[in-house]
Amino acid sequence: MSTIFSKIIAGEIPADIVFQDDRVTAFADIAPQAPIHILIVPNKEIPTVNDIQEEDEALAGYMIAVAARLARERGIAESGYRLLINCNKDGGQEVFHLHLHLLGGRPLGPMLVR
Ligand code: 5GP
Repeated sequence: MSTIFSKIIAGEIPADIVFQDDRVTAFADIAPQAPIHILIVPNKEIPTVNDIQEEDEALAGYMIAVAARLARERGIAESGYRLLINCNKDGGQEVFHLHLHLLGGRPLGPMLVR
């Protein structure tokens, strides 16, 4: 099942795309939780982390590398940031197209709400 992210990747609906190549698309989150909140999304439709196949492992690693590059470009590599992937209901996943959240630009506090 395609999600809204496939339409963003295809350019069919607008988003603040900060990076795109043949493997991933990165764009600003519409409801940012931090001064920098970017979603790094594989162009391939992979619903959740659970659906990453052996053939996708390089792509999953590439998503992290792109996130690190975007963090460096935005000057938060040294101050720090958080990379986050939600999976399914308990993980709070809302959009079922795999995506890596890059969050930073302020101290992010504890990892989880207590
Ligand atoms: P999840 O909860 O699935 O890990 O995160 C989904 C994220 O996608 C949320 O942070 C939400 O704000 C963001 N989001 C949902 N719909 C859109 C959209 O249409 N455009 C953009 N740029 N972000 C979206």
